[in-house]
Amino acid sequence: MRFVERNSLVMQKIHLLHYGELALKLGNRKLFEEKLAANIRSLAAPLGKVKVKRLYGRMIVDPQDGVSDEDLGDVLDRVFGLAYHGRGYMEDATWANLERITEEILPGGEHSFGVRVKRAEQAWPRGRGETERDLGAFIVEKRGWKVNLSKPDIWVQVDIVNQKIIVSIEKRPGLRGLPQGASGQVMALFSGGIDSPAAAFAMMSRGCHVNAIHFHSAPYTSQESQDKVVDLAQALVRFQPQMTLHMVPFGKLQQEIVKHTPQKFRVILYRRYMIRIAEIMARRNRCLALVTGESVGQVASQTLRNMQTVDAATDMLILRPLVGTDKEDITRMAQKAGTFEISILPHEDCCSYLMPRKPATRSRVFELEKAEESLDVEDLIWDTIRATETLHLALGKTPKVVGNQDASKTEM
Ligand code: ATP
Ligand code: MG
Repeated sequence: MRFVERNSLVMQKIHLLHYGELALKLGNRKLFEEKLAANIRSLAAPLGKVKVKRLYGRMIVDPQDGVSDEDLGDVLDRVFGLAYHGRGYMEDATWANLERITEEILPGGEHSFGVRVKRAEQAWPRGRGETERDLGAFIVEKRGWKVNLSKPDIWVQVDIVNQKIIVSIEKRPGLRGLPQGASGQVMALFSGGIDSPAAAFAMMSRGCHVNAIHFHSAPYTSQESQDKVVDLAQALVRFQPQMTLHMVPFGKLQQEIVKHTPQKFRVILYRRYMIRIAEIMARRNRCLALVTGESVGQVASQTLRNMQTVDAATDMLILRPLVGTDKEDITRMAQKAGTFEISILPHEDCCSYLMPRKPATRSRVFELEKAEESLDVEDLIWDTIRATETLHLALGKTPKVVGNQDASKTEM
């Protein structure tokens, strides 16, 4: 617990959290709150220990020894499910304590201010309005500041709950969304581009725990392009402290497609096999949906027709969180996720030998099914899955290979 010494009295420094949408989830509220608290603890773990307590529609984080306010503030900036957060002081609910911690928390200089009180404590002797007025008068007397209730420089927020008072003047916007992990697991198809990490980030913000899968064309493509994908996933681990990343060697399957099918269908056929393999990996890892970074019309492979033919290759739900988002907004999202700078580093997505000169924009399911008849790739799919390398990524740790896929499983 951290204390501030002042006039030989001590006061407890905490961070006050305001939920976002979470407050609406009445039925599941407890589960959501527990997820939120667990996420805060694990994202803060590299700094040290923090205590998270629920307090009537608010939450407080109590940093333990060695965890600095600034570092904890940075962690809270990365937690999904928070509308706002800010540093504050907490004390037993007495009027003398309220005045004392208010004086302590107010900055120097001349400011306009307003007081807002939230009172959920029956034993507190003054009403809400009365508390606001009296504390306002105290601040005017001590500091000579002017009250401004429409647009003050500083809102002094007072929460009176559970026989405690919390005073906070900081309101940093949170990431909003839902606590990461509260909505179940998804498998995100992860390339080295700008879009797919942004799509994964969008699903995290809806409470999904994201697993990632990448298809690489080694030895046709370089080790650097694989490293880049690992770096992108590692960047997202700042928001989701653990992530599994499957690296699938896709070159042999691509070669078969190149050899035996019309050039114009190549990209869609790659995508259909990626989806099939991703589906198997998703089912093995208890994921309920696949996620891609597609956006209608962005490139030739992302027309409505082509999306439909990709969908036809799987029974699994495919989520495309960026489907109606333009590149500029996607870029902004990728910047927020901290992946943009990595994504724009030059890399080869796929070598030119494997890419068609003129990809089809209007593929039909029957055409692709026909093209696939000339492929005998069932065994190759399973060989590919067996050769897949799985990495475990964790916040503050270097990625670790946790093994290859179980060769004994061959069911679809
Ligand atoms: P991105 O910026 O995500 O690479 P893109 O604009 O390059 O997307 P495409 O290459 O058409 O578009 O890919 C569309 C989606 O298909 C990607 O967002 C991703 O979800 C998936 N995808 C493409 N290539 C791969 C790959 N090599 N491994 C895994 N997923 C992939
Ligand atoms: Mg790409």
